[in-house]
Amino acid sequence: MKEQLKEIQVTFSQRLREVNEMQALENLRVEYLGKTGVLKEILRGMGKLPKEERPVMGAHANEVRDALEEAIESKRQELKDRQLDAKIAKEWIDITLPGKKIQMGHPHPSTLTTRQIIDVFHSMGFVLEDGPEIDTVANNFDALNSPPDHPSRDLSDTFYFDEVNLLRTHTSPVQVRTMMKQKPPIRMISIGRCFRNDALDATHSPMFTQCEGLVVDEGITMGDLKGTLEQFVKLLFGADTKSVFRPHNFPFTEPSAEVDITCFKCKGAGCRFCSGSGAIEILGCGMVHPQVLEYCGIDSERYTGFAFGMGIERVTMLRYEIDDIRYLFENDQRFSRQFRR
Ligand SMILES: [Zn+2]
Repeated sequence: MKEQLKEIQVTFSQRLREVNEMQALENLRVEYLGKTGVLKEILRGMGKLPKEERPVMGAHANEVRDALEEAIESKRQELKDRQLDAKIAKEWIDITLPGKKIQMGHPHPSTLTTRQIIDVFHSMGFVLEDGPEIDTVANNFDALNSPPDHPSRDLSDTFYFDEVNLLRTHTSPVQVRTMMKQKPPIRMISIGRCFRNDALDATHSPMFTQCEGLVVDEGITMGDLKGTLEQFVKLLFGADTKSVFRPHNFPFTEPSAEVDITCFKCKGAGCRFCSGSGAIEILGCGMVHPQVLEYCGIDSERYTGFAFGMGIERVTMLRYEIDDIRYLFENDQRFSRQFRR
Protein backbone atom coordinates (compact mmCIF):
# COMPACT_ATOMS: atom_id res chain seq x y z
CA MET A 1 0.00 0.00 0.00
CA LYS A 2 2.86 2.32 0.76
CA GLU A 3 4.18 1.67 -2.74
CA GLN A 4 0.79 2.38 -4.18
CA LEU A 5 0.70 5.77 -2.43
CA LYS A 6 4.23 6.51 -3.61
CA GLU A 7 3.18 5.64 -7.17
CA ILE A 8 0.14 7.86 -6.91
CA GLN A 9 2.30 10.80 -5.77
CA VAL A 10 4.73 10.33 -8.65
CA THR A 11 2.11 10.05 -11.41
CA PHE A 12 0.13 12.89 -9.85
CA SER A 13 3.19 15.14 -9.91
CA GLN A 14 3.79 14.33 -13.58
CA ARG A 15 0.17 14.94 -14.48
CA LEU A 16 0.11 18.20 -12.51
CA ARG A 17 3.10 19.53 -14.42
CA GLU A 18 1.19 19.13 -17.68
CA VAL A 19 -1.83 21.08 -16.44
CA ASN A 20 -2.12 24.49 -18.12
CA GLU A 21 -5.60 25.69 -17.29
CA MET A 22 -8.15 25.76 -14.50
CA GLN A 23 -10.58 23.22 -15.90
CA ALA A 24 -7.82 20.60 -16.38
CA LEU A 25 -6.68 21.27 -12.81
CA GLU A 26 -10.19 20.75 -11.49
CA ASN A 27 -10.52 17.51 -13.48
CA LEU A 28 -7.25 16.27 -11.98
CA ARG A 29 -8.41 17.17 -8.48
CA VAL A 30 -11.63 15.22 -8.91
CA GLU A 31 -9.73 12.29 -10.37
CA TYR A 32 -7.40 12.03 -7.35
CA LEU A 33 -9.21 13.61 -4.43
CA GLY A 34 -12.88 13.37 -5.39
CA LYS A 35 -15.46 11.08 -3.75
CA THR A 36 -14.69 8.30 -6.20
CA GLY A 37 -11.09 9.45 -6.68
CA VAL A 38 -7.92 7.37 -6.71
CA LEU A 39 -7.05 8.21 -3.14
CA LYS A 40 -10.47 7.27 -1.77
CA GLU A 41 -10.14 3.94 -3.57
CA ILE A 42 -6.87 3.24 -1.73
CA LEU A 43 -8.30 4.22 1.64
CA ARG A 44 -11.18 1.86 1.09
CA GLY A 45 -8.59 -0.94 0.83
CA MET A 46 -7.34 -0.11 4.35
CA GLY A 47 -9.82 -2.49 5.88
CA LYS A 48 -7.82 -5.42 4.53
CA LEU A 49 -4.68 -4.38 6.39
CA PRO A 50 -3.64 -5.88 9.68
CA LYS A 51 -5.15 -3.89 12.55
CA GLU A 52 -1.83 -2.53 13.89
CA GLU A 53 -0.78 -1.18 10.50
CA ARG A 54 -3.99 0.75 9.92
CA PRO A 55 -3.24 3.88 11.99
CA VAL A 56 0.22 4.25 10.46
CA MET A 57 -1.06 3.78 6.93
CA GLY A 58 -4.02 6.02 7.71
CA ALA A 59 -1.71 8.80 8.85
CA HIS A 60 0.49 8.31 5.81
CA ALA A 61 -2.49 8.41 3.46
CA ASN A 62 -3.62 11.67 5.09
CA GLU A 63 -0.16 13.13 4.58
CA VAL A 64 -0.30 12.17 0.92
CA ARG A 65 -3.78 13.68 0.59
CA ASP A 66 -2.60 16.93 2.23
CA ALA A 67 0.40 17.02 -0.07
CA LEU A 68 -1.79 16.59 -3.15
CA GLU A 69 -4.21 19.25 -1.96
CA GLU A 70 -1.39 21.62 -1.29
CA ALA A 71 0.13 20.98 -4.74
CA ILE A 72 -3.23 21.62 -6.38
CA GLU A 73 -3.73 24.81 -4.41
CA SER A 74 -0.32 26.18 -5.34
CA LYS A 75 -0.93 25.24 -8.99
CA ARG A 76 -4.28 27.04 -8.82
CA GLN A 77 -2.53 30.15 -7.53
CA GLU A 78 0.08 29.88 -10.25
CA LEU A 79 -2.60 29.62 -12.96
CA LYS A 80 -4.47 32.59 -11.45
CA ASP A 81 -1.31 34.70 -11.49
CA ARG A 82 -0.66 33.70 -15.07
CA GLN A 83 -4.23 34.67 -16.07
CA LEU A 84 -3.83 38.04 -14.39
CA ASP A 85 -0.48 38.64 -16.09
CA ALA A 86 -2.05 37.80 -19.47
CA LYS A 87 -4.96 40.15 -18.77
CA ILE A 88 -2.66 42.98 -17.74
CA ALA A 89 -0.49 42.45 -20.81
CA LYS A 90 -3.58 42.58 -23.03
CA GLU A 91 -5.08 45.67 -21.41
CA TRP A 92 -1.90 47.60 -21.05
CA ILE A 93 -2.19 51.28 -21.88
CA ASP A 94 0.73 53.40 -22.93
CA ILE A 95 0.08 56.55 -20.93
CA THR A 96 2.90 58.36 -22.71
CA LEU A 97 0.99 58.31 -26.03
CA PRO A 98 -0.77 61.58 -26.98
CA GLY A 99 -4.48 61.53 -26.09
CA LYS A 100 -7.37 61.52 -28.55
CA LYS A 101 -8.52 65.06 -29.23
CA ILE A 102 -12.14 65.69 -28.27
CA GLN A 103 -13.95 67.96 -30.71
CA MET A 104 -15.47 70.88 -28.84
CA GLY A 105 -18.64 72.40 -30.20
CA HIS A 106 -18.93 76.15 -30.74
CA PRO A 107 -21.55 78.57 -32.07
CA HIS A 108 -22.27 78.95 -35.78
CA PRO A 109 -20.91 82.20 -37.31
CA SER A 110 -24.49 83.49 -37.83
CA THR A 111 -25.15 82.84 -34.13
CA LEU A 112 -22.01 84.76 -33.20
CA THR A 113 -23.20 87.71 -35.29
CA THR A 114 -26.71 87.51 -33.82
CA ARG A 115 -25.36 87.52 -30.26
CA GLN A 116 -23.15 90.48 -30.94
CA ILE A 117 -25.96 92.47 -32.54
CA ILE A 118 -28.23 91.72 -29.58
CA ASP A 119 -25.46 92.81 -27.18
CA VAL A 120 -24.98 96.11 -29.02
CA PHE A 121 -28.69 96.96 -29.03
CA HIS A 122 -29.16 95.78 -25.45
CA SER A 123 -26.46 98.25 -24.47
CA MET A 124 -28.58 100.98 -26.11
CA GLY A 125 -31.69 99.95 -24.20
CA PHE A 126 -33.50 97.93 -26.88
CA VAL A 127 -35.72 95.01 -25.86
CA LEU A 128 -35.70 91.76 -27.84
CA GLU A 129 -39.18 90.81 -29.14
CA ASP A 130 -40.23 87.61 -30.88
CA GLY A 131 -43.02 86.64 -33.24
CA PRO A 132 -44.28 83.68 -35.29
CA GLU A 133 -42.75 82.65 -38.61
CA ILE A 134 -46.22 81.99 -39.98
CA ASP A 135 -48.08 85.28 -39.88
CA THR A 136 -51.01 86.96 -41.55
CA VAL A 137 -51.09 88.86 -44.84
CA ALA A 138 -52.43 91.77 -42.77
CA ASN A 139 -49.43 91.85 -40.41
CA ASN A 140 -46.89 91.14 -43.13
CA PHE A 141 -48.19 93.57 -45.81
CA ASP A 142 -51.37 95.54 -45.05
CA ALA A 143 -50.21 97.00 -41.73
CA LEU A 144 -46.93 98.04 -43.32
CA ASN A 145 -48.53 100.28 -45.90
CA SER A 146 -47.66 97.88 -48.72
CA PRO A 147 -49.84 98.75 -51.75
CA PRO A 148 -52.12 95.93 -53.00
CA ASP A 149 -50.15 95.75 -56.24
CA HIS A 150 -46.70 95.83 -54.62
CA PRO A 151 -44.43 93.26 -56.35
CA SER A 152 -43.35 91.71 -53.02
CA ARG A 153 -46.95 90.52 -52.54
CA ASP A 154 -46.70 88.46 -55.70
CA LEU A 155 -47.20 84.69 -55.53
CA SER A 156 -43.84 84.29 -57.18
CA ASP A 157 -42.14 86.18 -54.32
CA THR A 158 -44.05 85.11 -51.22
CA PHE A 159 -44.97 81.69 -49.81
CA TYR A 160 -48.71 81.78 -49.09
CA PHE A 161 -50.62 79.09 -47.22
CA ASP A 162 -53.98 80.60 -48.19
CA GLU A 163 -55.46 84.08 -48.60
CA VAL A 164 -54.88 84.91 -44.95
CA ASN A 165 -51.65 83.20 -43.87
CA LEU A 166 -48.13 83.23 -45.21
CA LEU A 167 -44.52 82.61 -44.25
CA ARG A 168 -43.38 86.06 -43.16
CA THR A 169 -41.15 87.76 -45.72
CA HIS A 170 -39.50 90.00 -43.12
CA THR A 171 -39.52 90.41 -39.33
CA SER A 172 -41.58 93.61 -39.60
CA PRO A 173 -44.78 91.82 -38.46
CA VAL A 174 -43.12 91.60 -35.03
CA GLN A 175 -42.97 95.42 -35.01
CA VAL A 176 -46.67 95.52 -35.92
CA ARG A 177 -47.53 93.06 -33.14
CA THR A 178 -45.47 95.05 -30.63
CA MET A 179 -47.08 98.38 -31.58
CA MET A 180 -50.54 96.80 -31.32
CA LYS A 181 -50.03 95.44 -27.82
CA GLN A 182 -47.83 98.17 -26.35
CA LYS A 183 -48.13 101.94 -26.05
CA PRO A 184 -45.07 104.10 -26.79
CA PRO A 185 -42.31 104.50 -25.78
CA ILE A 186 -41.21 101.45 -27.77
CA ARG A 187 -37.61 100.46 -28.28
CA MET A 188 -37.29 96.95 -29.64
CA ILE A 189 -35.40 94.67 -31.97
CA SER A 190 -36.50 91.31 -33.32
CA ILE A 191 -34.39 88.66 -34.97
CA GLY A 192 -35.80 85.69 -36.81
CA ARG A 193 -36.13 83.60 -39.91
CA CYS A 194 -37.88 85.01 -42.99
CA PHE A 195 -38.86 83.36 -46.23
CA ARG A 196 -38.96 84.54 -49.81
CA ASN A 197 -39.42 82.62 -53.00
CA ASP A 198 -35.84 83.26 -54.17
CA ALA A 199 -33.67 80.80 -56.04
CA LEU A 200 -30.67 79.69 -54.02
CA ASP A 201 -27.43 81.22 -55.23
CA ALA A 202 -24.27 82.79 -53.77
CA THR A 203 -26.14 85.80 -52.35
CA HIS A 204 -29.78 84.62 -52.07
CA SER A 205 -31.51 81.99 -50.01
CA PRO A 206 -35.25 81.25 -49.75
CA MET A 207 -34.74 81.25 -45.97
CA PHE A 208 -32.70 83.92 -44.27
CA THR A 209 -32.48 85.70 -40.93
CA GLN A 210 -33.40 89.31 -40.42
CA CYS A 211 -32.78 91.73 -37.61
CA GLU A 212 -35.14 94.67 -37.37
CA GLY A 213 -35.41 97.48 -34.89
CA LEU A 214 -38.11 99.98 -34.01
CA VAL A 215 -38.22 103.07 -31.83
CA VAL A 216 -41.50 104.96 -31.28
CA ASP A 217 -41.83 107.88 -28.91
CA GLU A 218 -42.66 111.55 -28.82
CA GLY A 219 -40.21 113.70 -30.75
CA ILE A 220 -38.20 110.93 -32.44
CA THR A 221 -36.37 112.37 -35.45
CA MET A 222 -34.17 111.31 -38.31
CA GLY A 223 -31.28 112.54 -36.14
CA ASP A 224 -32.08 109.83 -33.55
CA LEU A 225 -32.11 107.25 -36.33
CA LYS A 226 -28.73 108.38 -37.65
CA GLY A 227 -27.17 108.57 -34.20
CA THR A 228 -28.40 105.11 -33.24
CA LEU A 229 -27.25 103.42 -36.43
CA GLU A 230 -23.91 105.22 -36.54
CA GLN A 231 -23.26 104.02 -33.01
CA PHE A 232 -24.36 100.52 -33.98
CA VAL A 233 -21.95 100.17 -36.94
CA LYS A 234 -19.08 101.56 -34.88
CA LEU A 235 -19.69 99.00 -32.12
CA LEU A 236 -20.08 96.16 -34.59
CA PHE A 237 -17.40 96.97 -37.18
CA GLY A 238 -14.96 99.22 -35.34
CA ALA A 239 -14.76 102.81 -34.12
CA ASP A 240 -13.33 104.16 -37.39
CA THR A 241 -16.28 102.88 -39.45
CA LYS A 242 -18.17 105.69 -41.16
CA SER A 243 -21.74 105.39 -42.36
CA VAL A 244 -23.36 107.11 -45.31
CA PHE A 245 -27.14 107.46 -45.62
CA ARG A 246 -28.46 107.24 -49.18
CA PRO A 247 -32.10 108.08 -49.97
CA HIS A 248 -34.18 105.03 -50.77
CA ASN A 249 -37.82 103.99 -50.93
CA PHE A 250 -39.76 101.54 -48.73
CA PRO A 251 -43.54 101.51 -48.39
CA PHE A 252 -43.38 101.40 -44.56
CA THR A 253 -40.99 104.32 -43.97
CA GLU A 254 -40.94 107.92 -45.10
CA PRO A 255 -38.29 109.21 -45.64
CA SER A 256 -36.32 106.01 -46.25
CA ALA A 257 -32.62 105.42 -46.57
CA GLU A 258 -30.04 102.75 -47.18
CA VAL A 259 -26.86 102.81 -45.15
CA ASP A 260 -23.41 102.15 -46.54
CA ILE A 261 -20.43 101.71 -44.26
CA THR A 262 -16.73 102.21 -44.97
CA CYS A 263 -15.33 99.00 -46.41
CA PHE A 264 -13.53 97.50 -43.42
CA LYS A 265 -11.22 95.61 -45.74
CA CYS A 266 -9.71 98.55 -47.65
CA LYS A 267 -10.86 101.33 -45.30
CA GLY A 268 -12.47 103.15 -48.21
CA ALA A 269 -9.66 102.93 -50.76
CA GLY A 270 -11.57 100.46 -52.93
CA CYS A 271 -10.99 96.73 -53.22
CA ARG A 272 -12.39 93.50 -54.66
CA PHE A 273 -14.58 93.13 -51.60
CA CYS A 274 -16.46 96.41 -52.09
CA SER A 275 -16.24 96.27 -55.91
CA GLY A 276 -13.87 99.24 -55.81
CA SER A 277 -16.41 101.62 -54.26
CA GLY A 278 -14.84 101.75 -50.81
CA ALA A 279 -18.30 101.32 -49.26
CA ILE A 280 -20.58 98.38 -48.43
CA GLU A 281 -24.36 98.47 -48.16
CA ILE A 282 -25.39 97.20 -44.76
CA LEU A 283 -29.01 98.02 -43.94
CA GLY A 284 -32.24 99.76 -44.82
CA CYS A 285 -34.04 102.23 -42.54
CA GLY A 286 -36.32 105.21 -42.30
CA MET A 287 -38.92 107.11 -40.29
CA VAL A 288 -41.99 104.95 -39.65
CA HIS A 289 -44.76 105.91 -42.11
CA PRO A 290 -47.63 107.67 -40.28
CA GLN A 291 -50.08 105.22 -41.86
CA VAL A 292 -48.24 102.30 -40.21
CA LEU A 293 -48.53 104.00 -36.81
CA GLU A 294 -52.24 104.72 -37.36
CA TYR A 295 -52.91 101.13 -38.51
CA CYS A 296 -51.40 99.92 -35.23
CA GLY A 297 -53.48 102.34 -33.14
CA ILE A 298 -50.73 104.86 -32.42
CA ASP A 299 -51.50 108.58 -32.76
CA SER A 300 -49.19 109.73 -35.58
CA GLU A 301 -49.72 113.38 -34.64
CA ARG A 302 -48.24 112.77 -31.22
CA TYR A 303 -45.70 110.02 -31.87
CA THR A 304 -43.00 109.45 -34.45
CA GLY A 305 -40.59 106.60 -34.85
CA PHE A 306 -37.82 105.05 -36.85
CA ALA A 307 -37.21 101.50 -38.04
CA PHE A 308 -34.32 99.63 -39.60
CA GLY A 309 -33.61 96.17 -40.89
CA MET A 310 -30.64 94.10 -41.96
CA GLY A 311 -29.83 90.53 -42.99
CA ILE A 312 -27.94 88.52 -40.38
CA GLU A 313 -26.39 86.37 -43.11
CA ARG A 314 -25.24 89.45 -45.00
CA VAL A 315 -23.62 90.96 -41.91
CA THR A 316 -22.04 87.59 -41.10
CA MET A 317 -20.65 87.30 -44.62
CA LEU A 318 -19.17 90.80 -44.34
CA ARG A 319 -17.66 90.25 -40.91
CA TYR A 320 -16.05 86.92 -41.77
CA GLU A 321 -15.39 87.61 -45.47
CA ILE A 322 -17.55 84.70 -46.60
CA ASP A 323 -18.35 84.95 -50.30
CA ASP A 324 -21.22 82.44 -50.61
CA ILE A 325 -24.36 82.42 -48.43
CA ARG A 326 -24.81 78.68 -48.99
CA TYR A 327 -21.85 77.93 -46.72
CA LEU A 328 -23.93 79.29 -43.84
CA PHE A 329 -26.66 76.70 -44.33
CA GLU A 330 -24.72 73.61 -45.35
CA ASN A 331 -23.30 73.08 -41.84
CA ASP A 332 -20.08 71.62 -43.10
CA GLN A 333 -17.88 71.54 -40.01
CA ARG A 334 -14.73 72.14 -42.03
CA PHE A 335 -16.30 75.52 -42.80
CA SER A 336 -17.97 76.50 -39.54
CA ARG A 337 -15.01 75.39 -37.40
CA GLN A 338 -13.04 78.37 -38.73
CA PHE A 339 -15.16 80.96 -36.96
CA ARG A 340 -14.92 81.09 -33.22
CA ARG A 341 -15.36 84.74 -32.35
ZN1 LIG B 1 -13.02 97.61 -50.01
